[in-house]
Amino acid sequence: MARYKDEQCRICRREGQKLFLKGERCFTDKCSVSRRNYGPGQHGQKKAKLSEYGTQLREKQKTKSFYGVGEKQFRRYFEMASNKKGVTGENLLQILESRLDNVVYRLGYGASRAQARQIVNHGLFDVNGHKVDIASYLVKPGDVISVREIKKDKGVIKVNVEANSARPVPTWLEKDEKNIGGKVIRLASREDIDLPVQEHLIVELYSK
Ligand code: SF4
Repeated sequence: MARYKDEQCRICRREGQKLFLKGERCFTDKCSVSRRNYGPGQHGQKKAKLSEYGTQLREKQKTKSFYGVGEKQFRRYFEMASNKKGVTGENLLQILESRLDNVVYRLGYGASRAQARQIVNHGLFDVNGHKVDIASYLVKPGDVISVREIKKDKGVIKVNVEANSARPVPTWLEKDEKNIGGKVIRLASREDIDLPVQEHLIVELYSK
């Protein structure tokens, strides 16, 4: 039996939404959600009615997949979000958006969040002039992100700078394309975040 090689697309198809997990392909008509907008597998075309718990769980899984975060880390972010002032669900998304790998992706220096995570882990970036190779590092307003001088010629960075130059950068970030970097103007608000998720359902799930 042929092995399913499209794990990431399978996740999107299960959620019935584009989660942009694969980079360039996500923006083309090769996207599996555009071509086959039904669940994966033999029974994918049957629409099963989800229970309340099932719906909450799907929203959490979707968010975890979108940001590429594991269960333990996600739970930690939820605790941080609940301890912050404001709306817990929105705080949670704001924390996830503040991850360095997400910021690198949003600035267009990674083709996908997964690739952004990889290049951050490989030590290609500085934050405020200091090397940071931790993808989960949380940025703050005023932080300046730059590609390390010695890594500027690295092929993957050059390719991404060219390939993603037209990708819109959210207004909470300022891209410095000339020097291959960017600045965090402010933290992301809910309106800035393009993830189609009902975050209050995640809060309800964890509050049981
Ligand atoms: Fe695959 Fe990207 Fe489309 Fe998701 S959005 S189905 S990862 S091509």
